[in-house]
Amino acid sequence: MWNRHSFKAMSDHAWDDLWLNARIATMAGDGWGAIEDGVVAVAGGRLAQVSPRADLPRPPAALARRVHDARGCWITPGLVDCHTHLVYAGNRAREFELRLEGATYEEIARAGGGIRSTVAATRAAGEAALFEVSARRLQRLMAEGVTTVEIKSGYGLDLETEIKMLTVARSLGERLPVTVSTSFLGAHAVPVEFDGDAEGYLDLVIDTVLPAVAEAGLADAVDAFCEGIGFSAAQTDRLFQAARRLGLPVRLHAEQLSDLGGAGLAARHGALSADHLEWLSAEGIAAMAAAGTVAVLLPGAFYFLRETRLPPIADLRASGVPIAIATDCNPGSAPVTSPLLMLNMACTLFRLTPAEAVAGMTRHAAAALGLGASHGTLEAGKVADFVLWDVEEPAELAYAIGANPCATVVRGGKVRSA
Ligand SMILES: [Zn+2]
Repeated sequence: MWNRHSFKAMSDHAWDDLWLNARIATMAGDGWGAIEDGVVAVAGGRLAQVSPRADLPRPPAALARRVHDARGCWITPGLVDCHTHLVYAGNRAREFELRLEGATYEEIARAGGGIRSTVAATRAAGEAALFEVSARRLQRLMAEGVTTVEIKSGYGLDLETEIKMLTVARSLGERLPVTVSTSFLGAHAVPVEFDGDAEGYLDLVIDTVLPAVAEAGLADAVDAFCEGIGFSAAQTDRLFQAARRLGLPVRLHAEQLSDLGGAGLAARHGALSADHLEWLSAEGIAAMAAAGTVAVLLPGAFYFLRETRLPPIADLRASGVPIAIATDCNPGSAPVTSPLLMLNMACTLFRLTPAEAVAGMTRHAAAALGLGASHGTLEAGKVADFVLWDVEEPAELAYAIGANPCATVVRGGKVRSA
């Protein structure tokens, strides 16, 4: 091997890595952006060239220090899961079981179920233990090609635990080879100690928790649950004004169970995304289109809650609102750690095309995190996050159920070990 190293030292390669013999779905523009017999070149952790092999200016060995054979795999951008609540303690399997045995919501609440059980478990968990259970969930997402993930707080609902959740989310991004974007979701639910006093709790969020989170640099965005069982449009507006005073972008859980006009409100605040949207109105769609707000659809929650009202897909499409797809990984309504299953459900339940579904977990998901300029497509200059899939055609990513054809993940130019 010594002579190969000395050859490397003597040579003057423009690129660090060059992947040959690939079929590439760049996801740039509409559709797959497919390149047959393609090459991906990486320099300094960024994509240096993504093109047909015929466009290479010189023989591969003269261009890159390391030349890899992609063995005919399809290469897509690394998957971006732009909506998760994966940091939490405990689980709600017992509640799932009770409901199937016929228990009512009141009985489940009396038995300590619902979001309050997750809040209690998350408050009680030590930071190290919370990291461990969350890392296990994140590793399942990563095993299916996720290179960027959004993680929300919102199971603390007090200063100490919201900070703990976001600290764990940040350390996941530091200790695992994945990019983490955080959202502060203090306005997720009203905690038991503020029962019947949503305004009082919101004062705590706006006056104390949000400023502390922003000061510590723990949030990349601010989120809320705008719903009859969550916070009103007026309360959400108050929170968003505070977020924007702190220079933080906003996103919103909106129109999941009813139409409170949340998506339109979020769009008027320049929101990165509005998420769920089963009850989204024509006014909401128009406001989102005007603001460039991404529609994040969550087929796992739709499925798990056995919802029947579909988000207005055709109208979103017709209005040019970008559609993203995410797992919504959470213990109550979407105990999902399979992004590939979400691609399938986006097609089977929401009737997206496979290319739309994959764009929803790459290009549009990156935009929903404000990372559209650097992530989400395979184009020169962007971060070299990509996945080699052992499939004959890219539609298989959305077609198959329970398969995981993820062969190799490259993150920041480096091959990520399993
Ligand atoms: Zn959510």
